[in-house]
Amino acid sequence: MRESVGVVGGGIMGSGIAEVAARNGLATVVYEPDDAGLARARKRISGSLDRAASSGKLSADDAKAALDQIVFTTDLAALADRDVVVEAIVEDEAAKVSLFAQLGELVRPDCLLATNTSSIPVMKLAAATTGPDRVIGIHFFNPVPVLPLVEIIPSLLTSPATIERAEQFAAKQLGKTTILAKDRAGFVVNALLIPYLLAAIRMVEIGFASADDIDTGMVKGCAHPLGPLRLADLIGLDTTAAVAHSMYAEFKEPLFAPPPLLLRMVEAGLLGRKSGRGFFEYS
Ligand code: NAD
Repeated sequence: MRESVGVVGGGIMGSGIAEVAARNGLATVVYEPDDAGLARARKRISGSLDRAASSGKLSADDAKAALDQIVFTTDLAALADRDVVVEAIVEDEAAKVSLFAQLGELVRPDCLLATNTSSIPVMKLAAATTGPDRVIGIHFFNPVPVLPLVEIIPSLLTSPATIERAEQFAAKQLGKTTILAKDRAGFVVNALLIPYLLAAIRMVEIGFASADDIDTGMVKGCAHPLGPLRLADLIGLDTTAAVAHSMYAEFKEPLFAPPPLLLRMVEAGLLGRKSGRGFFEYS
């Protein structure tokens, strides 16, 4: 059965998740709270589909068919009939808890309710809903159309049937590679990645090396496709800081604490690629 999909939040990740669902022939609804956010989501998805078509990864007809699979809405009630709803709003615990309380009332009792959170324990979101057994983390990676991994994160109350369904959805319907992670802030990948990104930011902060030299070091010396500072810019410095905050709150591990330079950059609106400037400038 092809599941119908709802995506809440059409930012970097929500747009990517919707694009991948639509490219796999799944009827998809994207919700953003206002028209401006919705217009940005549509532009992001159509731009990404155009790039895939012009590089030959997708035919022009398939790109058009994928865009036609997506309904863009500012009405949360449009998610009421979905088989699967994936939440991809800002990494803010209070905002997510309040949204899950609403979604728990709104969606069908058999709807798979997933969060794309990078670091907030799934249990905190599941506890806000009726039916926490159907709530699970399905954590995609950026850019979603390019990176094959998703982490599947059950909470203590997620049912075995929900775990099975989430794995099937990610692997069979979206063509992703899944790994199973425990419900601890950061899961598997960010528990390893975030301290590394923060270490690179601290190097810039103390003037140990330039952002460009640090990135060149990891690209040319360790064969990483992207250096840590360009990767932090790609993730979004606000999201990087929010993930660091949640991980620090959970473990009190100093390596997870966001360095002051990162916090100042977020306060200054220097969010990386999405704002045009972070450690580097983007046109
Ligand atoms: P983003 O800032 O690009 O997008 C967030 C979107 O959510 C915005 O479009 C905003 O308008 C919308 N939004 C905010 N509050 C909302 C609400 N109450 N209801 C509906 N929409 C709302 O952020 P992002 O990078 O797409 O991150 C989204 C989620 O995905 C976060 O939980 C983040 O931790 C996670 N994530 C991010 C990355 C990454 O590399 N950026 C990777 C994996 C997971």
